[in-house]
Amino acid sequence: MSYDVIVVGGSYAGMSAALQIARARRNIMVIDAGVRRNRFAAHSHGFLGQDGVDPAQIAATAREQLVAYPNVVWTEGQADHAAKDDRGFTVMMRDGAEHRSSRLVLALGVTDTLPEIPGLQERWGRSVFHCPYCHGFELGGGPLGVLAVGDVSMHQAILIPEWGPTTLLTNGAFEPTSEQLTELDSRSVTVERTPVARITGRADVELADGRVLSLAGLFTASRTRPSSSLADDLGCALDEGPLGPFLRTDAMKATSIPGVFACGDAARGAGSVSLAVGDGALAGAAVHRSLILG
Ligand code: FAD
Ligand code: MG
Repeated sequence: MSYDVIVVGGSYAGMSAALQIARARRNIMVIDAGVRRNRFAAHSHGFLGQDGVDPAQIAATAREQLVAYPNVVWTEGQADHAAKDDRGFTVMMRDGAEHRSSRLVLALGVTDTLPEIPGLQERWGRSVFHCPYCHGFELGGGPLGVLAVGDVSMHQAILIPEWGPTTLLTNGAFEPTSEQLTELDSRSVTVERTPVARITGRADVELADGRVLSLAGLFTASRTRPSSSLADDLGCALDEGPLGPFLRTDAMKATSIPGVFACGDAARGAGSVSLAVGDGALAGAAVHRSLILG
């Protein structure tokens, strides 16, 4: 059988899209490998009505409500490839299964790549973060660090003092210009140029000269990219954001390839659960309308 819509990615964006399509009484398959971006965090913040809730719980409740619709099929697993022909789309699964649909929604999320510093990855989502709106409040006013990865770190270093006294660890990845140094000074940011050797304790930054900065939390800008190559298979255009590439979409979340819509982190420069849910609702209604209006 061919579905009206296949949604690849069954997290916040994908489930939000799927909910609209399900409620429009269309047949839909959601394919999900279950690797949410925020799986490292025990609490999700800033999503209205769910502030501080376990992100796995938010997803589980959404899934329970979604699969209660008889016209929704949920498939666990990894979609490895997608192709378009005259009749629609084929999605090929890692286990060899193939599924067909008239339309496709890509809600792939993104994968974060962190600087390679011992102790950093293990603390991601606990005391090392990228987004102060998500996790800044809980750090109790600091002291805080910004681990530089490049020019984008200037923006973070200027912003983070809102949440506590801040040290910018340039770590050889970024050197502020004299104007930038003045700007950092006006925000009372301490600039530390000694390389970072490792992170220990909660967020203790051990420097190469043996000094230790005991911080309440550390921010760093991860590099991001869509979590799988399905958009490349289909030839969807990408835009380059300050953190990495993301799928280009129009105001109704349509990609550059007719019949393919995209939502959530994979389709914006920077994301959150709220934005993923909003994007998904828009993509779901838009993909449904495209079934009728072309
Ligand atoms: P995701 O939630 O990443 O889900 C993508 C889904 O698609 C995954 O289940 C994945 O397995 C699946 N998938 C991808 N490709 C395939 C494929 N080929 N086949 C099958 N399945 C596939 N945001 C907040 O609002 N508040 C917070 O407190 C917060 N904390 C965060 C903490 C950390 C450490 C991180 C890294 C992020 C945090 N975020 C937070 C951001 C939040 O995680 C993302 O904005 C949100 O998850 C985006 O939702 P999404 O549906 O677009 O993608
Ligand atoms: Mg999703």
